[in-house]
Amino acid sequence: MINVTKTFFPPLDEYNDNIKRIWSNEWLTNRGELVLELENKIKKYLGVNNLLITSNGTLPIQIALKLLGNQGEIITTPFSYIATTSSIIWEGCTPVYVDIHPNYLTIDESKIEESITSNTTAILATHVFGNPCNIEEIERIARKYNLYVIYDAAHCFDVRYKGKSLFDYGDVSTCSFHATKLFHTGEGGAIFCKNEGLFHKIYYSHNFGHDGPVKFHGLGINAKISELQSAMGLSVLPYMSKIISKRKQIVESYLRMLDWRKLDTMKLRDNTQWNYSYFPILFESESDLISIQEELNLNQIFPRRYFYPSLNTIEYVKGNFMPISEDISSRIMCLPLYYDLELSDVTRICEVINNNL
Ligand SMILES: *Cc1c(COP(=O)(O)O)cnc(C)c1O
Repeated sequence: MINVTKTFFPPLDEYNDNIKRIWSNEWLTNRGELVLELENKIKKYLGVNNLLITSNGTLPIQIALKLLGNQGEIITTPFSYIATTSSIIWEGCTPVYVDIHPNYLTIDESKIEESITSNTTAILATHVFGNPCNIEEIERIARKYNLYVIYDAAHCFDVRYKGKSLFDYGDVSTCSFHATKLFHTGEGGAIFCKNEGLFHKIYYSHNFGHDGPVKFHGLGINAKISELQSAMGLSVLPYMSKIISKRKQIVESYLRMLDWRKLDTMKLRDNTQWNYSYFPILFESESDLISIQEELNLNQIFPRRYFYPSLNTIEYVKGNFMPISEDISSRIMCLPLYYDLELSDVTRICEVINNNL
């Protein structure tokens, strides 16, 4: 069976070596030795400064919205994973959708200004599939209207834009280290913030606001990652460049072998060093997508409809009509892409698709 993704399992003996350290320390959580080591290694690997690793990739979005959203209107994208929208509502803010660019699939920056009101507090945009938003234009708008910029960068581990980590842009960026993501700790995530004062607040809010055992520095929640999760991260991190170069090979095979006369894919923004995190293909219609998905399933191949449905159509949201996002969502699918996917299987997937287009 070939799924859209498959978790990378590091060699068990290397994972065991890290687990043994936890047993000898007899320390399981609250920023132990392995958490600090993983955090430092990620900082070095990515070349970033203020980074906090967390128990998942959703709590960082919630923390950012809690600190910057002020229960106001949040300009956001309808084309993302549910966590982008659900976090806004969970934090008592209101999502205001702005449609996406049909080629880049990120929020259409030219439509942001018309959606800003006196209640707008922040922009929460997703660098979807690791493709950067129009960062310069979003930055300009945010400055003009005095808004915060939060990037859901869940897909962006090791993406570089204009020579820097993509996490270095915006007031806050967040990442997910879930088992299905490019770099993983089983469950996990991270939050990035250049501003020292804001980072200080984020740091306290991820640990109940604790400032020592009996003092508190503001409101907090529990977003701490454990030593056990960090042991997985420390065992996976050394393989990242190998993982990414294998994925690059797979993506290049898809690009070479698929029949692009009736298909399309995402346009990557200029100046981007991408991470090959997802491989989305666009069909001409939803019915093409469904018939080819059925054919692939018969061959034990299970792509996923990332992202469907368009978030503005979710029942508890009641967002405005988003013609481009709703159209793209209805006919986009991500093909299998993972470290040990055989090139012979990529060939087979392409054949099934091409023969049924
Ligand atoms: C995976 C994902 C998240 C949530 O991350 P978790 O680690 O599963 O909490 C948020 N946003 C996007 C775009 C994602 O793909």
